Amino acid sequence: MSVDVTVENMLLKRKLAFYEQVLKEKEKDALTNVFSRQKFFDETRKMLDSNPDKQFVFMRIDIDRFQLINSFFGLEEGDKLLQYLAFKLKQFSLVFHNNIIGRIDGDIFAMCYQLNGNVEVLSAMLAQSIDSFTSGYRSDYELSISAGIYIVEQNSMALEEIYSKSILAAKKCKQTAYGPSFAFYDKSLSDAVIKNQRITNEMHIALSEKQFEVVLQPKCDLASGALIGAEALVRWNHPNDGFISPADFIPVFEKNGFIYRLDEYVWTAACSYIRSWLDKGKFVAPISVNVSRYDLRNPALPDKFKGLLKQYDIPIQYLHLEITESAYAEDSAYIVKAVQRLKDAGLHIEMDDFGTAYSSLNMLNEMPIDTLKLDMKFVQGTEKAHGKDILLSFIIKLAHALNFSVIAEGIETAEQAEHLLSLGCTAGQGYYFSKPISKKEFDIFASKKAVKAVS
Ligand code: C2E
Ligand code: MG
Ligand code: MG
Repeated sequence: MSVDVTVENMLLKRKLAFYEQVLKEKEKDALTNVFSRQKFFDETRKMLDSNPDKQFVFMRIDIDRFQLINSFFGLEEGDKLLQYLAFKLKQFSLVFHNNIIGRIDGDIFAMCYQLNGNVEVLSAMLAQSIDSFTSGYRSDYELSISAGIYIVEQNSMALEEIYSKSILAAKKCKQTAYGPSFAFYDKSLSDAVIKNQRITNEMHIALSEKQFEVVLQPKCDLASGALIGAEALVRWNHPNDGFISPADFIPVFEKNGFIYRLDEYVWTAACSYIRSWLDKGKFVAPISVNVSRYDLRNPALPDKFKGLLKQYDIPIQYLHLEITESAYAEDSAYIVKAVQRLKDAGLHIEMDDFGTAYSSLNMLNEMPIDTLKLDMKFVQGTEKAHGKDILLSFIIKLAHALNFSVIAEGIETAEQAEHLLSLGCTAGQGYYFSKPISKKEFDIFASKKAVKAVS
């Protein structure tokens, strides 16, 4: 054998050893020694295919707020926790025939195993194992995990679908902050995703076909019943599905960014309504429009409103903006600045749903607002009446001391209206006065009411 061939053989052997090592590393996760993502899915596929008559459970597990562990205790502790979780999963898996564990990414693990007994037995086992896992960690940190579980309906299903269903179950689990650490997939979770996707698919057509209607809900003076304004609320009249509630589509639009397009549409409609009243010269009620927290990210927002007011030739006091309290609570410094710019432009600002987000009363002083709009829970709540009244009358007094006006929403009965009046609140909105109604119905409503001049 020539020297050249020997060297070549040696190099080839080394290359082979190197690739074997790479392959091994690819198959096993170096940190936790469970399968890495691709190998886990490949092995799971084989296991499901070779056991068509057995029932399997697919579980996706992750550590809640894992990044906090890294930032509180350092990356090394984070790594240790991942190893601890992998170890506990291996222990848990021992009781199941046919089981495979993998690390999908970061702190996300997955496990597929044959179902022993029934779902009740599995639930009991999970509750016990997760409890021992979380309580056995460290005493100075409240560890929690979320396990999303899908009982595989057909072993031939695509793994992408199986995994997606376990993700939906894990999301459900995370939504209940203090609930159990695991949740099972059920069809309603997929239905919600499909519904949201349909909303996204159809929103552009809906806007161009004018399926969105802008209705008005009167705001009234509690003492005299006089009309003092209106809130513009959007309605989706779907050609096949009928009425779709804003509670269903607004959160979807806030996520997919369509909210600005819709809000622009509503603001424009509100301006056209005000214009029609100015033209008739009969009455003009200021209209409050809702401004989503996402709209506030648009630096051109003050110009947008100025442009609309100019286009419709409307005095600025006729357009009010409602911004929900929770927006202020989320990113207070940014939102306060954005709202301040709107107020500086001369727009009347109402803080909507006040009392739902627990903004600090101390901060109210710095908030750029003109009106505090009390959430309906103050009016309709079930808490002990006496305590609630003390709080309510305190908030009303505080608001007045800060020069804010106060309006209550969700008034449904005469007693509620009288009660609020006795506590110092002079304005209200709610079914007692009127439900949200079409522009045409609103004009009739207004023609029968005294209209209080706008200040
Ligand atoms: P919101 O701005 O706090 O509006 C008040 C909600 O309370 C409306 O629900 C209204 O119909 C309802 N309501 C009024 N009076 C009563 C009452 O006496 N009792 C009860 N139980 N409910 C009453 P709606 O129209 O379903 O709107 C829900 C939310 O959707 C609104 O809450 C607002 O946050 C959002 N929204 C509605 N229209 C728009 C819009 O054009 N743009 C944006 N960004 N959000 C909107
Ligand atoms: Mg509102
Ligand atoms: Mg509200």
